[in-house]
Amino acid sequence: MNANPIQAGRCTLVGAGPGDPDLLTLGAARAIAEATVLLVDDLVHPDILAHAQRSARIVHVGKRGGCRSTPQAFIHRLMVQAVQAGEQVVRLKGGDPFVFGRGGEEVEHLRAEGIEPRVINGITSGLAAVTSLGCALTHRDHAHGVVFVTGHAKPGEPGPDWALLSQTAAQARLTLVIYMGVTHAARIEEGLLQGLPADTPVAIVQNASLPQQRQALGTLGQLGQTMAAHGLQSPSIIIVGDVIQGARAWAAQAQAPALAEPRARAA
Ligand code: SAH
Repeated sequence: MNANPIQAGRCTLVGAGPGDPDLLTLGAARAIAEATVLLVDDLVHPDILAHAQRSARIVHVGKRGGCRSTPQAFIHRLMVQAVQAGEQVVRLKGGDPFVFGRGGEEVEHLRAEGIEPRVINGITSGLAAVTSLGCALTHRDHAHGVVFVTGHAKPGEPGPDWALLSQTAAQARLTLVIYMGVTHAARIEEGLLQGLPADTPVAIVQNASLPQQRQALGTLGQLGQTMAAHGLQSPSIIIVGDVIQGARAWAAQAQAPALAEPRARAA
């Protein structure tokens, strides 16, 4: 319980960034340091919790890792009860709180209970994934913009219309940044091939920004095959579009000096 009963309870949704604890914002670090209760998602790096007070109560409410899912309704109830008890609640979420991950639903639930939360942005994993490949997400030679899209539909709903999306991406020159696409990679590949050429560059980045990051470059026509060949799994971002040409050039260049330079000097 809160040591200071005069202080009103409050809830802040905080973006923990893509993984690397250095990518936390100053605002996020400050909110974490002020929290008396933290409700933490499982993609949040454990070192980020070092910003919390020792006395703070930390509740892990993650949904992966083979553990039983924490029902969303339970998280909602926990947030409301803690605020009503006068706690400084931080709901710590991977990436940005409002890019997928149900931040919108949590804010709606709090508002329905008469609680107006604060929201602190985080660096979304899609952004970190593209940056980690050494290419610029909106490089004007390659794209006019970007679409953040989920590969995972809400139960009972059809999910994105990949064929339509591929036609739009081709006509409007948009890069697709796909979250939660690993398990549906075959369906995504098939749908996107309706409107985009098979040789459209793609990249898959697992654990972006973390030391254990792994990635693969390929083409849309071989998306599923590339992921399987490299054993890429969740959490991964799939990027589709010509901006990935920058990553290819960068990868090729990174290898070039080691091969070419010593010979050139010797000559
Ligand atoms: N709010 C989060 C996204 C939550 S949805 C954000 O802004 O990043 C969870 C999905 O995000 C994962 O399935 C995966 O597609 C992606 N993701 C999260 N962290 C990631 C990381 N470090 N590397 C690659 N993908 C990541």
